[in-house]
Amino acid sequence: METRVLKGKPVAALIREEVSTASAALRDRGVVPTLAIMQVGDDPSSKIYSSSIQKAGGKLGVDVILSTLPASSSVPDVTERIAALGTDPSIHGIIVLEPLPQGIPSDVLEEIPPAKDVDGATALSLGLIVAGRPAYAPCTAQAVVEMLVRSGIEISGRHVVIVGRSPVVGRPLANMLLRKADNANATVTVCHTRTRDLSAHTVTADILVAAMGVPEAIRGEMLANGVVVIDVGVNRIDDPSSERGYRVVGDVAYDEALGIAAAITPVPGGVGTLTTSLLLLNTIDAATKAGVRAP
Ligand code: NAP
Repeated sequence: METRVLKGKPVAALIREEVSTASAALRDRGVVPTLAIMQVGDDPSSKIYSSSIQKAGGKLGVDVILSTLPASSSVPDVTERIAALGTDPSIHGIIVLEPLPQGIPSDVLEEIPPAKDVDGATALSLGLIVAGRPAYAPCTAQAVVEMLVRSGIEISGRHVVIVGRSPVVGRPLANMLLRKADNANATVTVCHTRTRDLSAHTVTADILVAAMGVPEAIRGEMLANGVVVIDVGVNRIDDPSSERGYRVVGDVAYDEALGIAAAITPVPGGVGTLTTSLLLLNTIDAATKAGVRAP
């Protein structure tokens, strides 16, 4: 079987075009779609992530402001800042970058109001998703659904096996796919480290989502012929032959899946490519709804 490679770039380009068109329309109405990135401390990977969001926002007409606090900030300093962004009518979306400095629990994220929680970071947003009510999902979980839908892969009625139950990927994704709604209505199995005989489950999947954080853990023999594989994993493994000394691989042994799977997302270059565009798309949605709510 020839395996179709589901690349993220063309899907991201479609989403970016939608963001750009919608932001122009909002600006015409006097609404400037605005995302606030909050960074506490100076984690280097957070800095890289925030500048890539700012760059993308600049190209697509979404204002991205950076709100920073020093690593020495207290919990009330952080919660007060998030609460202020939450009530500021010029801010439509909020993302708080993690990791937070030691001593700042991730509970502070709960200050983000659901209407502005454009990366689905709070327990309240997750609860709304579980209840089947409107809420933003974490962009990585959303990226899995967007990749399937925009690649024309049917979800309804199919058996989706998700390996991983984290609040960022597996848990929201399982509940999104279970919804009685368009682009959902799947039968969902969620596996984790205590699952007995993982292969017995993975071979039954029509669509397999690997979100484990274990390099190449899903081997070829764990896949059924014709399965669609969405690999969320991003893992660095040593590679002395590479200039950097490492390379990035997914949770699925990609070469082994070729010829067995009907389709597969590569790592890098798969679902991870969509997350920044989706963050901006959610900000546009939040700005549109805020514009509707405005007096
Ligand atoms: P996580 O919080 O560590 O959760 C991993 C999940 O996988 C857990 O539920 C764990 O089970 C399960 N698991 C781990 N090893 C397993 C095994 N051998 N068999 C069965 N289940 C196993 O990770 P995460 O934050 O969800 O991230 C998962 C992967 O996605 C990582 O590689 C991460 O880098 C990647 N990721 C990518 C993006 C992106 O592309 N932008 C964003 C977020 C995450 P237990 O619950 O039993 O421990």
